[in-house]
Amino acid sequence: MFDDLRDLYQEVILDHGRKPRNFRRLEDADRTARGDNPMCGDRLELYLKLGPDGAIADAAFQGRGCAISTASASLLTETVKGKTAAQAHALSDRFRELAMTGTCPDCGADLSEEMERLQPLSGVHEFPSRVKCATLAWHTLNAALEGAKEASSE
Ligand code: ZN
Repeated sequence: MFDDLRDLYQEVILDHGRKPRNFRRLEDADRTARGDNPMCGDRLELYLKLGPDGAIADAAFQGRGCAISTASASLLTETVKGKTAAQAHALSDRFRELAMTGTCPDCGADLSEEMERLQPLSGVHEFPSRVKCATLAWHTLNAALEGAKEASSE
């Protein structure tokens, strides 16, 4: 990876880690789930508001965690808005592949814009202990969509 790109990615993670977007409780959330990553101590609660068509109308989170888990949750809330449950699941699968391997060969064109926004987190694949920090919010998203209340990185 070029150093410039690495710096840019670092900057995105630090920015979202320090100033997470949609960091609030959604009082009228239709779905909520808690995520726990005991390896690092990251804990978060994810809130989803669904529209009349079942698509995700709003997403927000609260919690405490390292910069990577916070940045990942922040980027998640920005990228899943407007998505159907199926699209959100697909995005979650692709993101987890990206975090674990650094690439996502079967990321089709349909979610390419979202995947590009999540690209800054791809660097975690070089640090296996941090992969769970990056994927915690996405496990929690799947739990919320499936109506489960708890998600663990384990
Ligand atoms: Zn962490």
